[in-house]
Amino acid sequence: MSVLVLGGAGYIGSHAVYQLIDKGETVVIVDNLETGQRQAIHPDAAFYEGDIRDIDFLRSVFEKEPIEEVIHFAANSLVGESMKNPLKYYNNNVYGTQVLLQTMIEHDVKKIVFSSTAAVYGEPESTPITEAMPTLPTSTYGETKRIMEKLMKRTDEAYGVNYVSLRYFNVAGARETAEIGEDHCPETHLVPIILQTALGQRSHITIFGDDYNTPDGTCIRDYVHVEDLIDAHLAALDYLRDGGQSDVFNLGSSQGFSVKEMIDAARSVTGKEIPAKIGARRDGDPSILIAGSDKAKQVLDWKPARTSVAKIIEDAWKWHSSHPNGYRKEVST
Ligand code: UDP
Repeated sequence: MSVLVLGGAGYIGSHAVYQLIDKGETVVIVDNLETGQRQAIHPDAAFYEGDIRDIDFLRSVFEKEPIEEVIHFAANSLVGESMKNPLKYYNNNVYGTQVLLQTMIEHDVKKIVFSSTAAVYGEPESTPITEAMPTLPTSTYGETKRIMEKLMKRTDEAYGVNYVSLRYFNVAGARETAEIGEDHCPETHLVPIILQTALGQRSHITIFGDDYNTPDGTCIRDYVHVEDLIDAHLAALDYLRDGGQSDVFNLGSSQGFSVKEMIDAARSVTGKEIPAKIGARRDGDPSILIAGSDKAKQVLDWKPARTSVAKIIEDAWKWHSSHPNGYRKEVST
């Protein structure tokens, strides 16, 4: 029996595949390699290169492989890009999930763990954010993830496809052994950009605004170690295997760190200067996002063990310093 990981060549998906294989699971990966990296694919996983919107392709994978459950990471995930190109997000994220659910139903596969986001909440009324709070996404990206959740809910009601939707806050860090890590092109996320600056690949990091209503004026986020995040996916899979009902869980650390605090933490981990300049605010950035993750701890028995800012940055630094060009072999100039 196999677990199908959609997007298993991406940053978060590849960490899931490695942990599943560590646990002795048989893994099948589907990835179109649009943002995923071939080098991030675990050598012991069966890999099918293709697009989840291509129903004939997806059906052929379900016909060849004994798939029992699906973990779905295959989506576009950049807020800024989603505002400029909303139809790309509706097509890949929403339509892709529709095709996936149809194929699952045809093949009687009735368990799915889904990669969602704190962006479904939009600007929160208060923190910490709990699952009971309203979802009012401010970006197309967040809206497509919310629609994908609704698609799963209706599909569950009609066909009994059980799902767990995991709403991620800020994911960072890398596998401790640094075989795999974070490598986006272009890079937009805070921790990799800080560490690229530490490596001298950028002259400075630009802090997007220091006039927010926070103690040091910079935005506060809740950072969760990618390996802890994947632990929650494995716990969600066990929950569904044990007959758990469809549900939604936040995944974060319940602690907030400002952009300036993250840069300071990276300075102490790396011993590098990491020059920083203040720039304009980035459109759509809420001032504070902190998760209430008690529900995942209680219901899924999730025990995040590596989620401290120092550990996140240490593991990310191991990856970036040993792979300064990410998965690309050539040396940048
Ligand atoms: N950020 C920043 N400079 C950068 C990249 C990010 O100041 O070069 C800030 C961003 O405005 C946000 C935080 O860092 O407040 C985390 O941003 P990221 O893009 O990593 O994640 P997001 O919160 O958008 O999911």
